[in-house]
Amino acid sequence: MSEKKIVIIGGGQASCQVATSLRQKKFTGDISILSSESYLPYQRPPLSKKYLSGELAAERLYLKPEKFYEEQNINIILDSYVEEIDRKNSQLIFSKDKNHISFDYDNLVIATGTEPRLMPTDNSDMEGVHYLRSISDVEKIKSSLKDSKNMVIIGGGYIGLEVAAVSKTLGLNVTVIEMASRILERVTSPTISSFYNSFHESKGVKILTSTSVKGINGDKRVSSVETSSGTIDADIVIVGIGVLPCQSLAEDSGIAVDNGIIVDEFCKTSDDNIFSAGDCTLHPSTFYNKNIRLESVHNAIEQGKTVASSIIGEKIAYNQIPWFWSDQYELKLQIAGLNNDYDHHIIRGNIDENSFSVFYFKSGYMIASDCINSAQEHMMSRKFISEKTKINFDSLQNKEIPIKEVM
Ligand SMILES: Cc1cc2nc3c(=O)[nH]c(=O)nc-3n(C[C@H](O)[C@H](O)[C@H](O)COP(=O)(O)OP(=O)(O)OC[C@H]3O[C@@H](n4cnc5c(N)ncnc54)[C@H](O)[C@@H]3O)c2cc1C
Repeated sequence: MSEKKIVIIGGGQASCQVATSLRQKKFTGDISILSSESYLPYQRPPLSKKYLSGELAAERLYLKPEKFYEEQNINIILDSYVEEIDRKNSQLIFSKDKNHISFDYDNLVIATGTEPRLMPTDNSDMEGVHYLRSISDVEKIKSSLKDSKNMVIIGGGYIGLEVAAVSKTLGLNVTVIEMASRILERVTSPTISSFYNSFHESKGVKILTSTSVKGINGDKRVSSVETSSGTIDADIVIVGIGVLPCQSLAEDSGIAVDNGIIVDEFCKTSDDNIFSAGDCTLHPSTFYNKNIRLESVHNAIEQGKTVASSIIGEKIAYNQIPWFWSDQYELKLQIAGLNNDYDHHIIRGNIDENSFSVFYFKSGYMIASDCINSAQEHMMSRKFISEKTKINFDSLQNKEIPIKEVM
């Protein structure tokens, strides 16, 4: 078992976790990571937060220092884009420095993450128009920011709103354009959307909901954005309209995909020798009784661990309650679970003091929570959700009663 050759495609959070966990589990075979990026695996969350604002240095983004990969004998090949998987011969082909190189594997791990959904309008690649996924993207944004006054953000999701918070603090005029009737509509409840809408507006951000983009104008560089609510001046545009799973490599080789690479609870794809982890997977959730695809660090880490276990023959099923966070201004939002089909919700704390939680229930059980500046509530809610704890609604609503005593 130990002499197997493991190849991991992608150099992100999930990939780094698979390699790290394999070594922690005393796996002594070959491990290679092939990454299309020029950087060692790094954390993406700060890209739209403290790295964009300049508060965090690039060195702090890296998940592990270079010497870790040397010491652990993990072969990491950067700037290498995997083009093809040849499952019949257990080989893949990647390009590096214009060469096409083939590589054998015993077990393959696909951890290719996601890529930004592109604007379907003309000029969406014009100077001053940016997407935000990588360190390189942030470097370009930072350089554009230097001579910009008016920023338009297309998409009122978490990344768009985090960029709005940083850019407003840096002194730009910021307008957020959202096609839906409220910001964060896809991911949270009207209570949270309305809170964030008011908070951003109180800081001077302009938010246009139910507004669609008709076009991007400019000569060499962007000058304005044409919307269904009129023309808005812009010398910098950030597009944050969601992401798509990087699944074509798997799909082209005949591995089953459906809005993500389909895996079972052991992170195994439709090919017994190939595993997948992180943002690119569609995986079963026993808790929510459906297949889900998540874009979160926690999921990438936990699936990375599951893949390592599966490779060494430990049968440990992935069964986690999702969680995620978002930092905007002085607000720390921590999200647990999925609230899509809740039938009841309870607010605990004081919305006016920017410290409160919304708990979502279905058939009497907590299924999700959004906690703003309320870390203890967040931690407890993860326990309540996973353990299907029966909650006393009156106690939960009463902030005077400690959260630990609401069962
Ligand atoms: C700006 C931003 C802010 C975020 N904020 C948060 C947050 O606050 N909290 C949170 O939980 N999550 C956040 N996320 C999401 C989180 O970063 C992701 O869930 C996590 O990075 C997923 O890890 P991954 O390994 O699946 O994918 P990724 O980290 O995306 O890594 C995939 C890697 O695969 C490489 N790759 C793709 N195709 C190929 C190929 N064919 N050959 C070689 N390499 C390839 C890519 O270049 C990339 O390096 C944020 C993401 C972004 C972009």
